[in-house]
Amino acid sequence: MSRSVLVTGGNRGIGLAIARSFAEQGDSVAVTHRGSGAPEGLFGVQCDVTSGADVDAAFTAVEEHQGPVEVLVSNAGITRDGLLMRMGEDAFTDVIDANLTAAYRVAKRASAKMVRARSGRMIFVSSVVGLLGSAGQVNYAASKSGLVGLSRSIARELGGRGITANVVAPGFVRTDMTAELPEKRQQEILGQVPLGRLAEADEIASVVRFLASEQAGYITGAVVPVDGGLGMGH
Ligand code: NDP
Repeated sequence: MSRSVLVTGGNRGIGLAIARSFAEQGDSVAVTHRGSGAPEGLFGVQCDVTSGADVDAAFTAVEEHQGPVEVLVSNAGITRDGLLMRMGEDAFTDVIDANLTAAYRVAKRASAKMVRARSGRMIFVSSVVGLLGSAGQVNYAASKSGLVGLSRSIARELGGRGITANVVAPGFVRTDMTAELPEKRQQEILGQVPLGRLAEADEIASVVRFLASEQAGYITGAVVPVDGGLGMGH
């Protein structure tokens, strides 16, 4: 059965792999973008997730196009790395806004229709560093661990209405975000990954798709690592 899926930041990187994965199985998939347009075959809505008005308008457009969102994937995210002692407050709050407050915005906007339908799936894309911590990323790691509390609270609030909320915590994935890392840092990271390689975006997408599937109906409040073993023990 085809469902209405919305993936934030689904115009490229991990979000695009997730969007394509749902589209392949016949779902109606909408993606947000900030001006790049939507990749072929996907319905695009322009939306900056740091704006409540944009989020509201994007959901309205998606609802008109393909019906209420039944599967929400909150994936859009940014980094603004820097050591704590040198990090300006705007670098901290901007990352929290784009990665964590935005997740609250989209989850809240999706929830009313999901509650009415008495079903829904929310999946939040976090990161291994949310639990592991990461030098130079106090803002990013805080935003990503915040998603765990957010998702688990939603799981408790809305579980009785047939809605699940889960977190996927990728390790290092081959995308524009990791391409920015210096070669030396990439080698250091690889040295700590038991599988000895970066993930492909498709390897994150398949887990997200599973969590949205009927087979995963009894999984909620979970944090699923897809990190090649990097975060083991946390
Ligand atoms: P990319 O940098 O390749 O893409 C980021 C996506 O987020 C883009 O679609 C971008 O849109 C969107 N985005 C950023 N800010 C906003 C905003 N304010 N409003 C709307 N959209 C926005 O990142 P990845 O694909 O690598 O990452 C996707 C998610 O996975 C992120 O949450 C990231 O933190 C997480 N992650 C990534 C890992 C990695 O190794 N790559 C590891 C662990 C987690 P636009 O094209 O308009 O800029």
